[in-house]
Amino acid sequence: MEKSQIQAASELQSRAAGITTFMKLPHTRDLAGVDVAVVGVPFDSGGAIRVGARFGPGAIREQSKLYLRRFHRTFGFTPFDVLKVVDYGDTPVIPELIETSFDLITGDVAPIVEAGAVPLSLGGDHAVSLPLLRAVARRHGPLSLVHFDSHQDIVDSYYGGRVRYNNGTVFRRAVEEGLIDPSRSIQLGMNGTVFPGMFPQESEALGFQVLPVERVAELGPERTAAAVHERVGGAKVYLSFDIDVMDVSVAPGTGAPEVGGLFPREALGIVRRLAGLDFAGIDLVEVNPLFDAANMTSILAANLVFEFITLLAIRKRDQHA
Ligand code: MN
Repeated sequence: MEKSQIQAASELQSRAAGITTFMKLPHTRDLAGVDVAVVGVPFDSGGAIRVGARFGPGAIREQSKLYLRRFHRTFGFTPFDVLKVVDYGDTPVIPELIETSFDLITGDVAPIVEAGAVPLSLGGDHAVSLPLLRAVARRHGPLSLVHFDSHQDIVDSYYGGRVRYNNGTVFRRAVEEGLIDPSRSIQLGMNGTVFPGMFPQESEALGFQVLPVERVAELGPERTAAAVHERVGGAKVYLSFDIDVMDVSVAPGTGAPEVGGLFPREALGIVRRLAGLDFAGIDLVEVNPLFDAANMTSILAANLVFEFITLLAIRKRDQHA
């Protein structure tokens, strides 16, 4: 279908009607000419407390369909006029089998990367970033990680060394596997109480830069984004956005809620200033509709995904200008 036809189909029909895909984009696995593939990763066996992020992709799609319009008011254009974006559907996963699911996720997303498109993944808990990074790094080499989260997710293991793959160890594993280059990576928004193993110094020892939430607040969106640009330079970027970086009062539907986090206008102020970065993969994780209120977390997540699509569109538009 031509882009104009998709646009028309979405505007001539009630937004409540129709099969649900992200923003009513076409659901296809045909990657010909595709710039961005939105893909759901309905896996939550990597989380331990408020399990239910397997329902995140469905909830984000539903809210995107109902409430998102295609024109970006702030940037003044329609990203879908620049990019061909599809909804690729969901990766296969097997609940409870973490490492088997990782292989399934990597295998399912690899064709997107090989086709030259950017996978924009909807979690799932944060464990899914590891198999996603494996798929992206296989083609692009060690990536610059830009990581929004209340937690650094660099714990070595849980439960006396018995659990090495879950949503709290993902970025230590990614460093060990050479999927990311910590010297060009930055973690933002860290907030809340910590165990030993979760202090900023432990990320810094791995080579990351850490901007805890107090520092992000002190810098404000403009200087926070500038710090990201300075850290990343021209490297290929993997953006991982854990919705729990947002304050629990605006995003209760998540697995590890924290008090004192970002508010939407702050987050949007930072994210929009990331325009120009060279994104090779993006994920938004840890939306759990079972703990949500009035779908507010899913609505916020859907809007953030639209912002990410817009960042990709700005990059492509300006490269061809
Ligand atoms: Mn996380």
